[in-house]
Amino acid sequence: MAGPNLDYEAIVIGSGFGGSINFCRLAQKWGNKVLLLERGRRYPMASFARSPKQIADSFWSIDGNAVKRPKHIQDKKLRGLFDIRNYKKMDAVISAGLGGGSLIYANVFLEPPAHVFEQGWPAGIDKAALQPYYQIAKQVLGARPVPPWQTDPRRKIVRTELFQEFAAHDNRTSKLADICVFFGNDYSYNGREQPLAIGLQEKNRYGAPQTSCTYCGECDIGCNTHSKNTLDLNYLYAGEHSHGGQIRTDCQAEKIVPLGAAGSDDPQAGGEYGYRVEFRDLESDTVHSFTARRVVVSAGTFGSNELLLRCRDVFGTLPKLSAQLGRWFSGNGDFLSFAIEGKKEADPNYGPVITQYTDYHLFDRFQRNRAFILEDASYPATLAWYIEGAFPTSLLRKLVRAVKALTAWLKKYLASGVWNGSLGFSLHEILKDDLSSKSGVLLCMGLDNGDGSLTLNAEGRIDLDWPQDTSMPLYQAILEAGKRFNAFIKGKLFLPLPTWELPVKHNVTVHPLGGCILADSAEKGVVSADPQSRGQAFGYQGLYIADGSILPSAVGANPIATISATAEWIAEGITGIAPDASLGV
Ligand SMILES: Cc1cc2nc3c(=O)[nH]c(=O)nc-3n(C[C@H](O)[C@H](O)[C@H](O)COP(=O)(O)OP(=O)(O)OC[C@H]3O[C@@H](n4cnc5c(N)ncnc54)[C@H](O)[C@@H]3O)c2cc1C
Repeated sequence: MAGPNLDYEAIVIGSGFGGSINFCRLAQKWGNKVLLLERGRRYPMASFARSPKQIADSFWSIDGNAVKRPKHIQDKKLRGLFDIRNYKKMDAVISAGLGGGSLIYANVFLEPPAHVFEQGWPAGIDKAALQPYYQIAKQVLGARPVPPWQTDPRRKIVRTELFQEFAAHDNRTSKLADICVFFGNDYSYNGREQPLAIGLQEKNRYGAPQTSCTYCGECDIGCNTHSKNTLDLNYLYAGEHSHGGQIRTDCQAEKIVPLGAAGSDDPQAGGEYGYRVEFRDLESDTVHSFTARRVVVSAGTFGSNELLLRCRDVFGTLPKLSAQLGRWFSGNGDFLSFAIEGKKEADPNYGPVITQYTDYHLFDRFQRNRAFILEDASYPATLAWYIEGAFPTSLLRKLVRAVKALTAWLKKYLASGVWNGSLGFSLHEILKDDLSSKSGVLLCMGLDNGDGSLTLNAEGRIDLDWPQDTSMPLYQAILEAGKRFNAFIKGKLFLPLPTWELPVKHNVTVHPLGGCILADSAEKGVVSADPQSRGQAFGYQGLYIADGSILPSAVGANPIATISATAEWIAEGITGIAPDASLGV
């Protein structure tokens, strides 16, 4: 069928796992006729915020991009890395930048067990069907466990051993997690056992320079040494540098309109003549558009649902999208808690952010309504310093010690009139036993009920209703495990996430999923699970969705493995090219 001349073969919206994979695979086929639009910035090596001033500017908050904001900050525009959302009973942390969530992820690549796919997933998409795609994504992302420490004591992570000890104590199994962190090509990509020495640099197999992990514990605030295998260093890198795909950052897609035979907007069309994608250049605050034969929406769960709901309900440009749009949201059972000031070393400020997972009825002895995993988490040392100053008991203890040490030092000095050389020892006395080193950060996730709803609020922006109570058996089981961990380390305080306390009682997720779910029909979901039309929105030819929003249920495990596997599967359907881990480089 002859149609209008179009600017691109494909436009991909968003550069998280779903978007980067589709961008790369489509660019392998169509080269510079593929365009990726990303609302956030590029983050080259050493560009992530560290000072308080930089951190203050590293949040995402622009007009009309989230739920309604208080009047006094309505005009403030921030276009940083962290996009923090607050909804009914659920808060969320997501990311904006080239590479999406990979820029701040904790690197874990974990395939869920097969039984997870038995409820809520359409027939035909199960673990076995996705297995080859998991394998490829895992190879591209270079996922392997932390290297053994016996040959280099700097690789010893005390926290990992503590969680392993607790798992044994709690009659559970702890396994080292496969993490997408660069320990040199030989270790990360070639399957050999010898990592590249800490801090040395190499070009990875796709040509991007990376540094062998320095164990700084800063994965979640952006890795300044590019030791994390973020998407801008593999899928996006290959798509742009080897295949000529076009990337425009600071560009937020705002509208998708199907075209008619003559190439003009036709909201009644079904995509057979392509689409026009309208976007705002956030640098110049100007609106532009390009046309393409196909569009892949990969703006993440909140971004994709918002864009599509607005196209259906505000602009009326995609009126045939399924009535199921926005349904079956899941926070993937996320639950963060803290065991504070125990008697055992936990050292949560060293090494890759997550190193192991302990199974609670997710992989073995499966119990759907209380299936979760417990992961060890770390946080940057700068935050540990902040906690030292901010936490009253720790601050008081340090002040008392400081006064004692200074008094003793002063007495000796006054008596002898000479510098007695004990200042170093005094500083040691003051600083020792910090709060963080004996506190554990517990990151749990599991099979929540996945029954949240994403809708548009009165301002036409995304809103979430999370029926927390239906997932309460899971949260209770997680809390019980957390208390046992606290007792194990003889912690002084077990603190679930502060927002969990009444009267707020909010969950927080870093793994939002659902809303545009894969299904057999438009009556059940938004995108097709049929192998012939994988990931295509019901009612629209050439309109695909590929990101966390298409997962029909919580996966219990960290979700990027499954988001990546489904994205590879969809990209293969679009291009007809079987993927491999070389990315055509
Ligand atoms: C602190 C933290 C740690 C995490 N650790 C892990 C982990 O260890 N393992 C794991 O499996 N998962 C982890 N996650 C979750 C993981 O990051 C997400 O599940 C994953 O990134 C989702 O991928 P996605 O493709 O759905 O979209 P995203 O990665 O969310 O990417 C969407 C992209 O689209 C862009 N965008 C949005 N709207 C628009 C628009 N209108 N126009 C243009 N661009 C747009 C966004 O800026 C973003 O870059 C973590 C998340 C956080 C916050």
